[in-house]
Amino acid sequence: MNRMQRFFGWVFGPRVERESREWKYECGQCGHSESVWEAGGVRFKANAEKSYVGRCPACGHVGKRWLRRSR
Ligand SMILES: [Zn+2]
Repeated sequence: MNRMQRFFGWVFGPRVERESREWKYECGQCGHSESVWEAGGVRFKANAEKSYVGRCPACGHVGKRWLRRSR
């Protein structure tokens, strides 16, 4: 847990970690996914799924990635 995650958890409680773990980064190339929380981030009170351009840590592919919510 990094400082930002600790801070959000301190302010909003354990649901921050729960929600952040439901949001996953997905690679459009190899299907690799990791949760926002595992990647060191926080996503809280968000609804919109979105795509963005980034680099996949698994296959190294640079291109479209998805941020999706899964339960
Ligand atoms: Zn990939």
